[in-house]
Amino acid sequence: MKPRVVILGGGFAGLWSARTLARRARAGQLDVTLINPRPTSDFHPLLPDVVGGRVRRASATYDLRQAEQRWALTFRQAEATDVDADRRVVKTTDGDVPFDHVIVATGAQTNVRGRGDLRAHALTLDSARNAESIIRTATRDPAAAFVIAGGGPTGVELATNLRLRCWPHRPRIVLAEFLSRLCSLLPESHSRYVLRNVRRMDTDVRLETTVEAVDGSTVVLCDGERIAGARLIWAAGVAPGAVARKLPRGDRNGRAATDEYLQAGEGIWAAGDAAGFVRPGESRPIRMSVQHAIGGGVAAARNVLGAIGGRDLQPFRPLDLGYIVPMANGLSCGTALGVPVFGAPATALHYVMSGFRSQAPGKTAGVLTDALSSYLDARRFNSRPPSAHDASYNNP
Ligand SMILES: Cc1cc2nc3c(=O)[nH]c(=O)nc-3n(C[C@H](O)[C@H](O)[C@H](O)COP(=O)(O)OP(=O)(O)OC[C@H]3O[C@@H](n4cnc5c(N)ncnc54)[C@H](O)[C@@H]3O)c2cc1C
Repeated sequence: MKPRVVILGGGFAGLWSARTLARRARAGQLDVTLINPRPTSDFHPLLPDVVGGRVRRASATYDLRQAEQRWALTFRQAEATDVDADRRVVKTTDGDVPFDHVIVATGAQTNVRGRGDLRAHALTLDSARNAESIIRTATRDPAAAFVIAGGGPTGVELATNLRLRCWPHRPRIVLAEFLSRLCSLLPESHSRYVLRNVRRMDTDVRLETTVEAVDGSTVVLCDGERIAGARLIWAAGVAPGAVARKLPRGDRNGRAATDEYLQAGEGIWAAGDAAGFVRPGESRPIRMSVQHAIGGGVAAARNVLGAIGGRDLQPFRPLDLGYIVPMANGLSCGTALGVPVFGAPATALHYVMSGFRSQAPGKTAGVLTDALSSYLDARRFNSRPPSAHDASYNNP
């Protein structure tokens, strides 16, 4: 019988695993099954652009049924609920799926921290479907206020793209960040650049501020301010799902603990945001990012092939090429190969990288065309005088 490889999750890590296994699957040497709850895969880095209208939803999603023929696999639309290491089956909402090797690539989802008010009333941005909900809300009432909780890259990108979406209406957009600076994982100079730019786009930035409560119409901040008629968008952190946490080697900050080969148990592998891989000599798992998900997906699949073929496993050596925080007025920032990049070149890098990481040549062209046609949109913000929110900013 052919070895059965089951991939859980059709995101970056899962699809790059599938690509890596495809040659052997096409040759009839492997049976590969891909399991994902929805029929499409979302390209997360472009979701803020979808909200802003700069990239079409179609350019930011990939139909997983196309993967069947392309990478010689079977796609099953279901949600994995557990990996039974003893019985060698994945339990799913569509029955048990037997495996010889399983790659857990279930990513991470917005973490509402068990708060019922957030579950009931907050919007999130972790799927194309949720991006559509935000667009619908903004379109229905473009003058209504928004409060975005979380001043990391997602919150920042979203705030600037909401401004673009609502234009020429100018709703109040509040960005609440618990820490004393935005994008706190970035160097201070980058945080200052981001702060200046989001304020330039009329965002009311509240540092050292949390959202205390929300109902259908009011958001309450920790300083007691009640923002009436506001919708809350929760962008304050993500957490991997239960499948990753329950794997045999246990979990690392909620991510599946793996060894240096991305092995999380006998014949069980993990990659991407779901994997708590720690570089030798470090104490924290590598950051959640597309580049590490792609690298991890490829490395896990290669080790599956190595294990099947009785060859030595290869340690995962993630490369950090950098990051970009893309903002909707085209003034982005980040680093590339250790070199700081600001402004239009950073924005161009965001789109070029997104285009080339897309799953099909047609998608690459779609992303790049969308990006080009949005260029003029972005320029109109930069030609405006500074907004009221710039006043409190001291240029360093
Ligand atoms: C708005 C936003 C913007 C971002 N921007 C950037 C950026 O600019 N650069 C960057 O590097 N990173 C960015 N990230 C982070 C990046 O998207 C993730 O690190 C990356 O997607 C991780 O890839 P993954 O394959 O591990 O998970 P994902 O891409 O999230 O894929 C996981 C897949 O698993 C599926 N799944 C979930 N649970 C189950 C289950 N129980 N059973 C089966 N399938 C399941 C999901 O539906 C999904 O299809 C962003 C994230 C968000 C939300």
